[in-house]
Amino acid sequence: MSPIPPKSLIRPMLSAGSIPAMLASAAFTGGLLSVVQSNVHPMLLAERFVPGSGWVEVGLLSIYAAIVCGAMLDPVRQPRWRRWTWRVFSVAFYGQLLLGLAGIEKCLMTGKLHLPVPAVIAAGPAYRGGGFFMLGLFLTTLVLVGPAWCSHLCYLGAWDDVAASRTAFPRALPRWVRPGKIVFALAVLLAAFLMGLAGIDGTTAAVVGGIFGIAGVVVMARFSARTGTMAHCLFWCPIGVLATRLGRISLFRLTIRSSCTGCRLCFRACRYDALHPEDLERGRPAASCTLCGDCIQSCRHDSIRYRFSRYGMPAVRHVFIVFVASLHAVFLGLARI
Ligand code: SF4
Ligand code: SF4
Repeated sequence: MSPIPPKSLIRPMLSAGSIPAMLASAAFTGGLLSVVQSNVHPMLLAERFVPGSGWVEVGLLSIYAAIVCGAMLDPVRQPRWRRWTWRVFSVAFYGQLLLGLAGIEKCLMTGKLHLPVPAVIAAGPAYRGGGFFMLGLFLTTLVLVGPAWCSHLCYLGAWDDVAASRTAFPRALPRWVRPGKIVFALAVLLAAFLMGLAGIDGTTAAVVGGIFGIAGVVVMARFSARTGTMAHCLFWCPIGVLATRLGRISLFRLTIRSSCTGCRLCFRACRYDALHPEDLERGRPAASCTLCGDCIQSCRHDSIRYRFSRYGMPAVRHVFIVFVASLHAVFLGLARI
């Protein structure tokens, strides 16, 4: 028997720096939820059912954020925790919608239903010329964690991940997808704007939005599941384009360091079509990168890192994960239709 235990056994559960990051995540989550619990009443689900218990939910979600943060700080565990926490959020989001539709109205945000399709976040205001709340929320996440909305926080994107994960390794999408998705996103938003301009009524607009959402699920089943790449999020959903382009207002980036040997092992980890030979040469992934972090553990040379502006020390990844784990826990507590 080898005297050296397997790496997975000796790898500590908590690395140096985990505890401060976990505490920061709990504090950030608790702080944000406390502001909501104190000022917007009753917003947390527990508070709606048992007055006063919202504070218990604040505490539990803060502890949960710390646990998620601690697990994701380990680059080997990060992909699995990202994936499963994202799915938990999606189930909670759509589960509350279904319970609300079944008659438990406390599971709905306001009782005013809107389509649970992310494209509507931008297409809705383009059609109505108002209703910017969700768009504002989306833009706030872009400031904090850039395009990570599309790899950690979106209620529908988790479905595309489930579809893409059916294929072990992703295949590169055709080259025309990169420019094509921008043209398609602009066309979708322009169509929504023109529908509003033409005075198309709300019911018809909702039906069109619903058909768009169902067609997106077909894209997941037909293309994402076959290519192993997030075809829906990379092409179909206009919010994906906005997240990766406008997400650059955040200073978090992924960088490929000069120690990269060009072995291309990381290509097999990226389901966002963001790693190609020319991206390695440039020292950064393509614009479709959502900062999911799946590629980091695939690199044997520690050549892929998060950076913030020009700073690329390991602590940057800790800060990013504090933000993303906290936002996930906050979304779990607050996001509903
Ligand atoms: S591209 Fe659209 S559906 Fe996919 S994760 Fe982003 S917002 Fe969600
Ligand atoms: S380049 Fe890495 S961090 Fe960016 S989307 Fe691909 S796997 Fe995720």
